Amino acid sequence: MLKSDAAGGTILAGKRALVTGSTSGIGLAVARALKAEGAEIVLNGLGDADEIDALCAEIGAHFNGANLMDEGAIAEMMDEVGPVDILVNNAGMQHVAPVEDFPPEKWNAVLALNLTAAFHTTRAAVPAMKAKGWGRIVNTASAHSLAASPFKSAYVAAKHGLAGFTKTIALELAEHGVTANCISPGYVWTPLVENQIPDTMQARSMSREEVINDVLLAGQPTKKFVQPEDVGAMAVFLCSPAAENITGSNFSMDGGWTAK
Ligand code: NAD
Repeated sequence: MLKSDAAGGTILAGKRALVTGSTSGIGLAVARALKAEGAEIVLNGLGDADEIDALCAEIGAHFNGANLMDEGAIAEMMDEVGPVDILVNNAGMQHVAPVEDFPPEKWNAVLALNLTAAFHTTRAAVPAMKAKGWGRIVNTASAHSLAASPFKSAYVAAKHGLAGFTKTIALELAEHGVTANCISPGYVWTPLVENQIPDTMQARSMSREEVINDVLLAGQPTKKFVQPEDVGAMAVFLCSPAAENITGSNFSMDGGWTAK
């Protein structure tokens, strides 16, 4: 149903959605999927200004380029964007290193972007959602919100934290028509994954092919990368009327990884 609707459905007509980290990868696919169901979209993220302008024109989206590691910039963005019906906390980053070599500034950055930014956007967005009696908060967590991998201490800590944060706000908002859920992908082929290959090659003394086949896809029983569009379709479902009783859940989309 959702795949055919993606050609031009209307289940989110009249809804305004902010998708963080949506100039690339999963966030961009989520933004496109919500737009295809009629939502008004605000993109956020970093990148080349001309490319982002072209993206906004192509999708028909607004843009706010706040750096989500900066609490003040998040507050300004939330003021400028105004009330949103749908908040997708998706921006994230990775750093791969043994814990004893993990640079503290990288730990702080990973926690700031993957976890603390979601707290700041959510606390700003919730009052209007409560006032309307309708809202959808969708957080891109990860298989690493449920399971760990070595050398990813900050990311695993942040994603476990994001899953806990999501459950907490789901309970707080349960009687206000506002749901909060996580989508937890396994490996999705995006720049975030591609960019961690060199560090993983170094940390594990492996070739690029070994990292892809023996590290990334080794844990994913389907042996396939998840597609960003799959995450987009799940986000649409979680924002749809059929999902109004789904809250505080963490949906694995990981080819069976966390079933083991
Ligand atoms: P990506 O690198 O393709 O996209 C990240 C997005 O975040 C980009 O739009 C980027 O501009 C934005 N961003 C980065 N730093 C920012 C900052 N300081 N302020 C604002 N925006 C910033 O990555 P992706 O793979 O699409 O990842 C998106 C989310 O999905 C992340 O939270 C990631 O942890 C999660 N995730 C990814 C995978 C995967 O395999 N790719 C798996 C599980 C979870």
